[in-house]
Parts: sequence; structure tokens; C-alpha cells
Amino acid sequence: MSKRRRLVVANWKMYGRLTSGCVLARDVADLAEAARPLNFDLVICPPATLTWAVGEAILGTPVALGGQDCHWVTHGAFTGDISAAMFVDLGCKYIILGHSERRHGHGESSEEICKKVEAAQLAGLTVILCVGETAAELESGSTADIIEKQLRESLPQNVKTANLVIAYEPVWAIGTGQQPAPEDVVTVHKLIRKILGEIGETVRVLYGGSVSPANAASILSETEVDGVLVGSASLNADGFWAIAQNCQ
Ligand code: PEP
Repeated sequence: MSKRRRLVVANWKMYGRLTSGCVLARDVADLAEAARPLNFDLVICPPATLTWAVGEAILGTPVALGGQDCHWVTHGAFTGDISAAMFVDLGCKYIILGHSERRHGHGESSEEICKKVEAAQLAGLTVILCVGETAAELESGSTADIIEKQLRESLPQNVKTANLVIAYEPVWAIGTGQQPAPEDVVTVHKLIRKILGEIGETVRVLYGGSVSPANAASILSETEVDGVLVGSASLNADGFWAIAQNCQ
């Protein structure tokens, strides 16, 4: 078992409508309630449109609320964007930043992500910062360099350790059903801790990428893995709970 309190995060991405999202959130919350006290932290990050409703559905339960991305300024003329403080208003405690679907899908740079990390922490959110190599980078043997570069460029000088989680998410493993071998995940997690230096022992490092009820036990049997970030398998309450159970 990991030395740090484990964390299981649901990233619903752009899935869920008002009714289905509330039912899913309530089902997860009911399972978590029945298992109280939880030995790990559990977070749901719904699409922004459902943040308030999901927050209401999980209120008073062991499940915390998170956002999927935020802007780095508090307010302004930024059509379609949401600030960290706005997520705090909605009851969020966590925010996912630097997800590959933002880095690669929206061309976000590590410099921009760094500003987001700083702003989100300033607003009081715990940042779940995603880093990970593409298939081409894996094949060219540059995983370690990419992870180091993304980490160094995405973390502000004044980063608050207590409000920081790193998620190692190989881009080629997200939504593909493919996964690195657990020992390769451990190698990258150790590298992340080394790059983090002094704070590396306390910051939780998660794995994300095609985590499912079938493979979660093997990933979570590694003490280096402080939890998981789950995409598609988090859209089913029983499946998501089966994954989380490996932390109980
Ligand atoms: C993710 O969205 O962060 C993710 C890991 O997705 P999936 O579990 O679907 O691969």
C-alpha cells in the first residue's frame, strides 16, 4: 500500500447530461457512503455544465468535486472560459490541468498550464497536473525527457506542495485500452519524484490511461502508485467503484 493517502479521480470529460450525470454521481456517492470511513480520497470531475448539480448530488458524502480545466485569470473578456475562483464558487476542491486533451487537442503549452497551476492554487484548489509522452515520444525513447520538461515548465516556482497531485498519463494509453507495464509506470513515478526533489515524497503521483476494473488491481498493487485518474471507466458507477475498491 502506498505511504500517502490514495486518490481516485473520475474524469467524465464531455460526457453526461443533467439527469444522467446526477444519477451517476448519486450512485457513486451511495457506494462511497455505504463504505464509510473511506481509506482514500474520491473525486468526481464532471463537465463544467454539471458542476453545480453534481455538487448538490454528492453534498455531505465522502465524494469531492473537481473541475476539468480553468483559465489563469480571475475574470475578464475570455468567451467560454471559466476561472479557478468560479469553480471554487461551485464547491470544487480539485482541478485537472494539463490533460493531454488540452495539451494536444487545444494546443496548450506548458507555460500556459503553469499560469493555470498558479492561479488554481491561489484560488484554493488542489491541482491534478497531468504529464505524459505520446506514442512517438515513447518509441523514440524520450519519455524521461518529456516528463521532465513538462513538469519543470508546468510547475510555478512558488508551487504549493500540499495542493498538488501529479498524474502520469501516457497519451498513447488514454482511451485506447493500451497500458504500460506496471514496472514501467513505477519507473516514471520514481522519475517524477526525483524531478520534484524534496517535495517528491509527499506529493501524490497517480497513474491514468485506460484504467478499468480488470486492470486496476495490478496497477494499484504498486506502492509507488498513489491512485488513479479514470476516464471512460468512471462513467459507470459500479465499474468506477470496483476500481476504487483497490484502495480501500
Ligand atoms: C483520462 O481522461 O484522463 C483518462 C485516463 O481516460 P481513459 O481512462 O478513458 O483512458
